[in-house]
Amino acid sequence: MAGVIRKLQICCKGRSKYSVRMPQLSFHLAPGLRAALNWTGTRSASSGTLQIKDSLNFWCGGRVNLKDVKSKPEPVYEPATGRVMCQLQACGAAEVDIAVRSASAAFTVWSKLAGMERARVMLEAARLIEKRREEIAELEVVNNGKSITEARLDVDSARLCIEYFAGQATTLSGQHVQLPGGSFAYTRREPLGVCVGIGAWNYPFQIAAWKSAPAIACGNSMVFKPSPVTPVTAVLLAEIYSQAGAPEGLFNVVQGGVETGSQLCHHPTVAKVSFTGSVPTGKKIMEMASRGVKPVTLELGGKSPLIIFEDSDLENAVRGALMANFLSQGQVCSNGTRVYVHSSILPQFLKEVVRRTKAIQIGDPLLDETRMGALVSKPHLDKVLGYVNQAKKEGARVLCGGEPFTPADTKLKDGYYMTPCVLGSCTDDMTCVREEIFGPVMSVMSFDTEEEVLRRANDSTLGLAAGVFTKDVKRAHRVIENLQAGSCFINNYNITPVEVPFGGYKASGIGRENGQVTIEFYSQLKTVIVEMGDVDSLF
Ligand code: NAD
Repeated sequence: MAGVIRKLQICCKGRSKYSVRMPQLSFHLAPGLRAALNWTGTRSASSGTLQIKDSLNFWCGGRVNLKDVKSKPEPVYEPATGRVMCQLQACGAAEVDIAVRSASAAFTVWSKLAGMERARVMLEAARLIEKRREEIAELEVVNNGKSITEARLDVDSARLCIEYFAGQATTLSGQHVQLPGGSFAYTRREPLGVCVGIGAWNYPFQIAAWKSAPAIACGNSMVFKPSPVTPVTAVLLAEIYSQAGAPEGLFNVVQGGVETGSQLCHHPTVAKVSFTGSVPTGKKIMEMASRGVKPVTLELGGKSPLIIFEDSDLENAVRGALMANFLSQGQVCSNGTRVYVHSSILPQFLKEVVRRTKAIQIGDPLLDETRMGALVSKPHLDKVLGYVNQAKKEGARVLCGGEPFTPADTKLKDGYYMTPCVLGSCTDDMTCVREEIFGPVMSVMSFDTEEEVLRRANDSTLGLAAGVFTKDVKRAHRVIENLQAGSCFINNYNITPVEVPFGGYKASGIGRENGQVTIEFYSQLKTVIVEMGDVDSLF
């Protein structure tokens, strides 16, 4: 093995401890959200202090320091401050090969375990995630820039997903088919082998869990490559699986970007690629996987419609529109960024949405009162601000936000902040309505009839998500039936219980994550025909 295994060592300059209590909120919340908002523990990180020294690669059961790697190290930034928090060394073909072989060795052991035995390890991993919830959430915030409140929910979602698929591990089964003369056939649901997971930067820890949980529940092993923008937390999941009793090599992490990713996709031992990221990269992944006839799961981008009818509960519709646009600084694939509002309620809707958007507290993402942190990188911030400028040029009206923002705290002065933006007077042909912006920018349009809004909502090459607000139950289901989207919401938006499948139609992807159906995407079916009589030979 090329590297040296070391223990986690996070150097923390000026480490401060403090605790914050959130005020009770007046409206109803899902239990997980309430727990995240009412957190009262102590904090060990503060923005501008964390330096990561340890290796972020993990295979053969431990962290691995790379030796003799030719690639130039790339800086990894803390979005809240614009500071470099570590240097990332990309894995080359040799490291990818070691990680895949490590996963292959683990597969031979893991795939033979009973579902109940796999479940036991997974449940222990879930317990360890719960125990380390705050530490994982803090690291996610420092590397990604999202608010600590949201990061806690992401960690909870990762844990719930592992718990859910631990349950599924015990249920894998086939079918018995009766054939003439007492003969019969049966099917066996079997794992695929070594699966590759490639993640985006917006939900780094959660994506690693959403991919690994169904994979290992089915008896596969995994090599995971996080985004080079957010490489820090996937390795914690690797450590946790290992501490929970997983065999060495069950879940491995290799760091790197485009090249490392393609080496993984092309590796002959890899049986499947599960990818979360943009549409253009998804197409490349599919092309690479096709050369080895490997199945793919593709969770890609979106430009989803949210339709608000005149009979909606306006308070809920406004909350829904904010949840559909401003979570994670707007960097959410399923965001409902094309908001169609019935013309008869447009003025009230806009007044309320703009009032609440202006009140969103932007600032240090590690503070509990912060609701919007920093965007993930400077180039990405510039890209999002560029979309706002383009929208203005094309005739949209900026009703609020869309400007760079500098928090009062001087240590945050170089962070990547902007004010959340609501664009009015949008039309279907504008760039802000057609392209995925992946930032806190809501485009609002008015409509008059159901037929018209359906046609406009479906006029997109993407089909990840869609939402409808109405009190008319028949209309709600009729509209949803006719929307071309994989993940739909009625009278809510952007909630993702792990029990239900998530994924897109059209160019937004192939396959699903979460829910029972995901077992099908991480396993294959073997058919066995059993003859109980004599062989009828034609020869
Ligand atoms: P991206 O496509 O740039 O990168 C995603 C990952 O692919 C990264 O790990 C990257 O290093 C890797 N990669 C890039 N080129 C590659 C190649 N040629 N071969 C192999 N790997 C390669 O996406 P991003 O900017 O990290 O994420 C933002 C995008 O992800 C948005 O479009 C968003 O909608 C989408 N996304 C989708 C979902 C979903 O579930 N549908 C979830 C999160 C993000």
